[in-house]
Amino acid sequence: MDRLCAQELDRADVLGRFRKEFYIPEDAIYFDGNSLGLLSKRAEATLYDMVESWKKFAIDGWTNEAQPWFHLSEKLGNMTAPLIGAHPEEVITTGSTTTNLHQLAATFFKPEGQKNKILADELNFPSDIYALKSQLQIKGLDPETHLVQVKSRDGHTLTTDDIIAKMNEDVALIVLPAVLYRSGQILDMKALTKAAHERGILIGFDLCHSIGAIEHHLSAWDVDFAFWCTYKHLNGGPGSVGGLYVNQKHFDQQPGLAGWFGSDKAKQFDMSHTFTPAETAGAFQIGTPHLFSAAPLVGALELFQEAGMTHIRTKSLQLTAFLMNLVEQELSEYDFTIVNPRDDHERGGHVFLEHKEAARICKALKADGVIPDYREPNGIRLAPVALYNTFEDVYDAVGILKTIMQEKRYLEFENKRGVIA
Ligand SMILES: *Cc1c(COP(=O)(O)O)cnc(C)c1O
Repeated sequence: MDRLCAQELDRADVLGRFRKEFYIPEDAIYFDGNSLGLLSKRAEATLYDMVESWKKFAIDGWTNEAQPWFHLSEKLGNMTAPLIGAHPEEVITTGSTTTNLHQLAATFFKPEGQKNKILADELNFPSDIYALKSQLQIKGLDPETHLVQVKSRDGHTLTTDDIIAKMNEDVALIVLPAVLYRSGQILDMKALTKAAHERGILIGFDLCHSIGAIEHHLSAWDVDFAFWCTYKHLNGGPGSVGGLYVNQKHFDQQPGLAGWFGSDKAKQFDMSHTFTPAETAGAFQIGTPHLFSAAPLVGALELFQEAGMTHIRTKSLQLTAFLMNLVEQELSEYDFTIVNPRDDHERGGHVFLEHKEAARICKALKADGVIPDYREPNGIRLAPVALYNTFEDVYDAVGILKTIMQEKRYLEFENKRGVIA
């Protein structure tokens, strides 16, 4: 494997034309699109369109424009639905990962008698765990005993059998990541949903690291609910509005946290004190949408519509496979461990390397223009992104890493993380 091989893969890449749609930071190889995706020219344009529509229409922007603000969250939900295999009315763009989890847990966690526990895992992102614990507390239940966290055998991955073994009689709700944020492992959402339903348990997934990176079939798998952010693989911009999915069989559920933007749209401005929820996932909205943080998603999601998830996933698998192969070929003497699962069906959109000098290796990489992200205590996450990275990026990044290791350049940095890893 050499540069020619990378260039050949780039020439054959059916998504190659999308790279020029993005602002690529100058002199950088950006492998951090799973923390903050890059700005595209389309997202920039639709953000400016929003500014213009405020300028031009003022209050009438809610209804008057080609893109009426009043329906923007629903429109974005419709555009997102194909990415996760959902019906359009099952998806809404609203809130953030964490607030959406609060909303969904407030809606779907209904402890009854001895069936009063929530099942999660010990590898999930902390915010999800904080939210679940506080939802238990709101219901007067002790998180110490009512939050069950499935353990990992190797510290990086979970097994389907271990999770199913914890689906006991006392579990009312299950919340798991679709792709683990560190190891990038994809959980078997289909099998887990089936097992949960056989035991009368509702199940939802956090799609933060999976949406825009892998394909999903949430409706076909009969998943009860899901939630995600849009600033990672979806490239919506820092703090862009998140999203949620509610299976249409639950449209009769009253939202746990009600607010007027969850109203049936025809009734919202009746100003009645009796809430009539929308008969869609839109019912789970709370207040006025954050339009400037939603606007870039119009352009960002158009790119996903044009590229198609199948092409994106195919290229993503090729990029991560190419990266793993190069790491093995070029870096075998430097004690890196590839921690992410190898199999295509279990590998998400990033590669996770461990090394005892990881913190300062990341700093050295950044100094040399490769943008990874560091995860405590010794992890290097590298996300070559299908829409804007090239195989040559991967080739160059591994070359730079090899030089850093050969010359021990990482020793110039402190082996400690910054405030934001
Ligand atoms: C990124 C991420 C979050 C972040 O939550 P926000 O509410 O969007 O800040 C939460 N959970 C997981 C699994 C994540 O990857």
